[in-house]
Amino acid sequence: MGLFGKKKDEHSGFMGDLSEKQEEALEEFRQIIKEENITDDPRYDDYYLLRFLRARKFNIKKTLEMFENFLEWRDEKQANDAMVIYKCPNIDELKEIYHHGYHKTDKEGRPFYIDQPCTFDITEALSIADSTECEQYYIREYEKLLHWRLPACSEAAGYKIEQSFSLINVKGFSMGKLKAKSREFIKIAIKIGQDYYPEIMGKMFIINTPFVFKAAWAIFSPFIDAKTKKKITMMGSSYKKELFKHVDPENVPAEIGGECECTSHPKGCFFADEGPWNDHKGDQFYQEATNKLLEEEKQKEFEPDSLSNESMDQAEQESKEVDQNMVDIELEDSNTNNVQSKEENNSKRKKKGGSKGGCCLFLCCAKKS
Ligand SMILES: [Zn+2]
Repeated sequence: MGLFGKKKDEHSGFMGDLSEKQEEALEEFRQIIKEENITDDPRYDDYYLLRFLRARKFNIKKTLEMFENFLEWRDEKQANDAMVIYKCPNIDELKEIYHHGYHKTDKEGRPFYIDQPCTFDITEALSIADSTECEQYYIREYEKLLHWRLPACSEAAGYKIEQSFSLINVKGFSMGKLKAKSREFIKIAIKIGQDYYPEIMGKMFIINTPFVFKAAWAIFSPFIDAKTKKKITMMGSSYKKELFKHVDPENVPAEIGGECECTSHPKGCFFADEGPWNDHKGDQFYQEATNKLLEEEKQKEFEPDSLSNESMDQAEQESKEVDQNMVDIELEDSNTNNVQSKEENNSKRKKKGGSKGGCCLFLCCAKKS
């Protein structure tokens, strides 16, 4: 670079750091979307479009192709409604054997995602949550990341946060873990991450990589684009010093070598889902989803269809009693034990937010391994 500013390739392509050409590409891309009626969905703001442009190095033709494929895929998967319709009922049970999920933030304020994909057996995992449920879970978690966690992290940091920091612990890896089902999954996860949610992973550490990991990497490497690869750092068992440069030890779970144990949840860090998003309402799309879920819950409560008038009266009476009991319990809590009451609130809040957690083991394992 010289007197005349940064060279073309020294601009990151993020909002606020665009070269003239990148600015022009964004403008052109926006115009095409409008003129060709590709979409008028308000979620696709400039930040959203820039992710696709960066992923295709600001080549309009390639970006447009990627974006149109993405919209088609979203229709097919009903991704706009993912946060409402994908309930993923078995994921909490899956987490018992497969510890993963978002956990606080890194030093830049990015959501810290941890995945430990080599601690369980794929056949057992799929017997708990089948491949369809896992795919829906990925999609739902990506949507929650975009519309809830990242807005919350941005607000907490005081600047726009668009990416996450991922840590993949491959302790326990062996080639035997890479069964056909695992490979298939990993490829699907790589595809979803790269093609439909590009430029979200800001940095990734893969830790505890054994020597044989190289063989696994060779299998998936052709499916991972060069840009993604640059964000990945692989380390053996001496990773703590490097990790702590990016994430404070108190934000790293003890089982990964940090200091956190998340006592707010009886099952600890991977169930607590602690982070700036805890008390955050999310953006308008997250709020719409939350409202729909609340409406659904209400409707379920008042679904008397097959009930007779008599049993409706009875149900109403019972419901009043339950309400009264809840009031009693809450009064009791606030009178006797503030700590307990706080935990109760936490667990209620968490219920409202649905199952927390990250995007997928396979995904992560995938991107790197
Ligand atoms: Zn924790």
